[in-house]
Amino acid sequence: MTINHEKSCVKCGSDMIECYVDQGLKGLLVKNPSGEQLFKNKKNTRMNPFVCIKCGYAEWYADTPEDLI
Ligand SMILES: [Zn+2]
Repeated sequence: MTINHEKSCVKCGSDMIECYVDQGLKGLLVKNPSGEQLFKNKKNTRMNPFVCIKCGYAEWYADTPEDLI
C-alpha cells in the first residue's frame, strides 16, 4: 500500500514524506456518516499523512477514497 507519491509542501516547497499513524495498523480509520448502520459502517477508508520535513505541515490522503461512497 506504500505508493510513493512525490509531494512537495504547499507551504514552503520542501519535500514531504509519507508517514503512518501509530494508532491502528494501516492508518487512521475514517468513516462516511451516511454509511452508518446498526452494527457496522462499510463506507470507510484509512488515512495516512504526508509530513513536510522542514516546516511540519501535514496533508492527509485516503488509501481508498472510493470506499467512502
Ligand atoms: Zn513545509
